[in-house]
Amino acid sequence: MSARILEGGRIAEQIRAELTAEIASMDRPPHLVALMAGDDPGARAYARMQARGCEEVGIDYTLRQLDAGIAQADLLEEIMKANVDPLVDGIIVQMPLPEGLDESEAQGAIDPAKDVDGVHPMNLGLVAADRDALAPCTAQSVVRLIEETGVELRGAEVVVVGRSVIVGKPAALMLLDRGATVTICRSTTRDLAFHTSRAEILVVAIGRAEMIRGEDIKRGAVVIDVGMNYLPGEDGAKGRYVGDVAFDEAKEVADVITPVPGGVGPLTVTMLLKNAVEAAKRQRGL
Ligand code: NDP
Repeated sequence: MSARILEGGRIAEQIRAELTAEIASMDRPPHLVALMAGDDPGARAYARMQARGCEEVGIDYTLRQLDAGIAQADLLEEIMKANVDPLVDGIIVQMPLPEGLDESEAQGAIDPAKDVDGVHPMNLGLVAADRDALAPCTAQSVVRLIEETGVELRGAEVVVVGRSVIVGKPAALMLLDRGATVTICRSTTRDLAFHTSRAEILVVAIGRAEMIRGEDIKRGAVVIDVGMNYLPGEDGAKGRYVGDVAFDEAKEVADVITPVPGGVGPLTVTMLLKNAVEAAKRQRGL
């Protein structure tokens, strides 16, 4: 039997409607500032999605374009300016930064109260401590999608493939906090299929096209595919995005599966909007 396809778009719409109503009741809209150094196409596309999302729910969005050759000290200065500006509620530093700039130093320079991407070590630490935090947006999307399935997380065998600081690791910690038994796999894991094939809930965030095959998945599992991999078309034809999971095979084995595109992706920007509202409320004592 074919799996239920769990789309992120419908959940995103519902959250955006709630945010729109909440923002309408605030004295002034939250203000989000995105700092973008250079012109990476991925960062540019993400910034466009941020701008559209903000406009839809009523958040003021400012994209500050910085020179690709900006010095690290000047980038930090830009972050500091936004940190101390009382009219700025949220700050994002668009990744990737041009070569030569230190991404983690930039992320660490953001005021944790304005860190709407959830990338400051303090926010990541709060996630690890099971405390309220501006948590990383993609990890929040993963958790929300799993919760949407109605599957019992307490006692569930969860396997997360990928341990990046902003996706795999925080998603694993948030699921652990909800009572699951969590295994995190990475490139050095000896027998990946052993782990994935016993997972009742499988979260995959690797960045390798269709690496997890149907035979690697337990029958009846919930599969959340975070991967976004661009496959160029042949002979100049338009390319397409695929996940880290071989969707056509996996959907014959899994009970529920997220598609790529259309699963985790649409929710991630929405979680950023949600963090922006949360950051504004906290800073205004609401
Ligand atoms: P990273 O490159 O930071 O991390 C990849 C992880 O995968 C690492 O932990 C790495 O292990 C692990 N890995 C690599 N190869 C293997 C392997 N052969 N077996 C097991 N594990 C492996 O990626 P991100 O977490 O940033 O992103 C992962 C994917 O999710 C990407 O496709 C990205 O585009 C996508 N993404 C999608 C988002 C969305 O909103 N839809 C948002 C963010 C990311 P090790 O640590 O040992 O190197």
